[in-house]
Amino acid sequence: MTDRWNWRTASRCREDDAEGLFVTGAAQRETRGFCRTCPVRTECLAHALDHRVEFGVWGGMTERQRRALLRARPDVESWHDLLTDARRDYYASDPQDLDALAERARARAVAEGLAHSV
Ligand code: SF4
Repeated sequence: MTDRWNWRTASRCREDDAEGLFVTGAAQRETRGFCRTCPVRTECLAHALDHRVEFGVWGGMTERQRRALLRARPDVESWHDLLTDARRDYYASDPQDLDALAERARARAVAEGLAHSV
């Protein structure tokens, strides 16, 4: 028995038109917004990274962004565990904890810097 639920059943692209997710090149940047309101964005991105999915937009990241992330973090053994833990820590953190806020801001800046560099 696994503790991983079938996240695909809750995906936005299961119901809505998701053709745009499989465009190529620069068009992928424009279509990333489709994923922003998807409730399983984290699970989707973790799946694509853990399984080295090469094509399409997954979890709001383009092919190039995912490749850059995999190159930047070759030490990650499970993106599912890493992203799930990060999300749990984010929601569990105290909004009055300034150190935690600063750390989250730093992590966000790194992620956005990565996103803009690819
Ligand atoms: S995040 Fe993944 S599951 Fe959700 S809409 Fe985007 S591609 Fe589909």
